[in-house]
Amino acid sequence: MMMANHMLCNAPLMRKPTSNFLKSCLLHTRRLVSVKPSTIDTGFILSLPKLPNPATSDLAYRRVLACYLPPSVFDRIWPRLEKFGEEAVSDRINDHISDAEKHPPYVKTRNVWGAKYPHDRLVTSEGWKRLGEWGIRNGVVAAGYEAEFGPYRRITQHAVNFLYSSSSAVFSCPVSMTSGAGRLLGRQLKDLPLQHPFHEVHRRITTRDSNENWISSQWMTERPGGSDVQGSETFAVLSPLPTQDKTAEMGFDEGDWLISGYKFFCSATDCDVALMLAKTESGQLSLFIAPTKRTVQLPDGSKQLETNGIRFHRLKNKMGTKELPTAELELKDVRAWMVGPIDRGIMTIATLLNVTRTHNFITALSCWRRGMAIAKGLARTRTTINQPLWTFPMHLRLLAGMEIKFQGLLQLAYFTTSLLSFADNGFPSDKPATYAPLPGPGEQTTVVQRALTATAKAVICKVSCIALQECQEAMGGVGYMDEPDEPESNISRLYRDTAANMTWEGTTNVLSSEVVRHLLNGKNLDIFSAWLDGAVIGRVSDLEVQEALKTSWAVLKGRLTPGKKDLGFVLAEGREIMFSLAWVVSGGLLAHDAQRDGNAAALEVSRRWVLNGEGGVGEFVIPEVVHNKQARKYEPKERLNWDCRLVWGVDLPQDAALGYRAPSRKPSGEPEKVVARS
Ligand SMILES: Cc1cc2nc3c(=O)[nH]c(=O)nc-3n(C[C@H](O)[C@H](O)[C@H](O)COP(=O)(O)OP(=O)(O)OC[C@H]3O[C@@H](n4cnc5c(N)ncnc54)[C@H](O)[C@@H]3O)c2cc1C
Repeated sequence: MMMANHMLCNAPLMRKPTSNFLKSCLLHTRRLVSVKPSTIDTGFILSLPKLPNPATSDLAYRRVLACYLPPSVFDRIWPRLEKFGEEAVSDRINDHISDAEKHPPYVKTRNVWGAKYPHDRLVTSEGWKRLGEWGIRNGVVAAGYEAEFGPYRRITQHAVNFLYSSSSAVFSCPVSMTSGAGRLLGRQLKDLPLQHPFHEVHRRITTRDSNENWISSQWMTERPGGSDVQGSETFAVLSPLPTQDKTAEMGFDEGDWLISGYKFFCSATDCDVALMLAKTESGQLSLFIAPTKRTVQLPDGSKQLETNGIRFHRLKNKMGTKELPTAELELKDVRAWMVGPIDRGIMTIATLLNVTRTHNFITALSCWRRGMAIAKGLARTRTTINQPLWTFPMHLRLLAGMEIKFQGLLQLAYFTTSLLSFADNGFPSDKPATYAPLPGPGEQTTVVQRALTATAKAVICKVSCIALQECQEAMGGVGYMDEPDEPESNISRLYRDTAANMTWEGTTNVLSSEVVRHLLNGKNLDIFSAWLDGAVIGRVSDLEVQEALKTSWAVLKGRLTPGKKDLGFVLAEGREIMFSLAWVVSGGLLAHDAQRDGNAAALEVSRRWVLNGEGGVGEFVIPEVVHNKQARKYEPKERLNWDCRLVWGVDLPQDAALGYRAPSRKPSGEPEKVVARS
């Protein structure tokens, strides 16, 4: 009898220790010993295995989806993800990425005679456009707004996004902003008459139809500072069109406001609509939305598309995200509509930030996982001192540490995504009894969601970058190559693109400050603690893990509470507090995941995370929180065997690499000599 997909997910996070996998590893590690001098075409040339399907090859991804989706949803979405994952590593998509990498965008403002174009011409590559269409068609925005998966829709959207982002050549950025605008505008619709243009804008930005789809961007950052947008030098003047110039159907390019100013960082400038902050005469910020172009009638009666008051000063020359057109723009009388209440621009745009930040951390995880897949491909292939790299003890430890880190933050990511999903679409009534420890609907969810969204964005983006550096180094010198024609093995691409995720939508400092101030606001710390202590830590069945987490949270809370009286001093430790918070919450979620089905590998990850402080979230932690007790003791051999299981899903082969040169040792790595231990 066939097993249902969701049942397969509950299978151990390990492959059966058959020798097929080992053979496939070792086939590559056979050393070619040549007696002839090498030439350009002869001698040893390494060849990496093809990148595996990121959906079917990633047991942690599959498991986390089985954790956050009920079987009825999982079974429906999984075949689509399998197919989409196959496409994500296909030659066709790799060709598009190469094209986007090799043809960065450029702007033309005038024709050869010097005449100004009616609108600045931003030229982007074919690859960039095709990758956008591919994502839109597969629901990387729309899935978050379609009714098919009810309350779980954001989780399914980010199941797609996880596979999409690392193959999107940073189209993930416009996707994230469009997705955020979908939530923001969606909330305005109920108070607006049906002929109001926001209905059509919302339909366009949330459709899967790439012929109809609109991309939205947001322009907040100005030269006086992006973290504190209050210094904005952009102004909005109320200036409705004269009645005779207005059309009967309330056109989107007939807004009542004119916006002028200079925006310093504007990504996705090939968008159709843009959100922008500007000050009204009160000096307070309000939020506006405008089409980037408008149709005008010329004196001869013909129609022309011209700029809606937007002029490119220049495209920015960035370290990464080069495919993405990020520009400095001058706005001059941009005709726009106000979104939300006047003078409440920051509050209004915050609705969007929870969505874009969620995209950010899922994108970072996607790129990190791709980097790991590439590095693992090299480890399977490479031998050094005549021993296979994939079983080198130190290399295994490095990869195992990364795997644990990844699994902990994957839990944090999908838990946080589920809160966004349920806060917007209602809490599900059909969730399994073993479902993750959710906060109560209403106030508790609001408090927990806000803290975790900012935390997950900052911590995951930072840790992903550090991990991608490790992936780069794990590839040796080739890891440092940046070959646009070979995206399938280019870790530099993933690293330089992921680095932007640390800064936009709030730097690590800004988010740390936000988390600390939020938790110290009113009763929020008590509300958060009631959830963490009660629903999460209090229900961990592994008592050793429960005790450790309890102590950690008590220490961390003790570091936060003085901030009620002296905020400045506690803010100085803001990063350490936020990263430690991520560590405690992820530890609790890993423990719940393990007890869901008693999976041995999940249990090992949870115990390593909590009891050994392994994997972890990097340098910014309070040591007393993360290492609050004696580490769990291991037999070194047992530990190494677990490293191998966590990374490769199999036991360490009997003739695994020693990791040093032993003169008497025969070369290892012949497939027939490898026997998996049971
Ligand atoms: C590739 C890329 C694309 C971008 N695209 C867009 C876009 O489309 N739209 C848009 O609006 N912006 C965009 N940005 C801009 C980005 O959002 C800002 O750079 C970011 O918000 C920081 O603002 P800033 O550059 O002015 O730095 P500043 O705000 O001047 O920050 C400088 C330093 O001060 C620290 N700091 C600031 N405030 C605090 C605080 N309260 N506590 C502690 N430390 C603090 C910061 O952490 C940072 O290290 C983009 C940036 C990049 C790199």
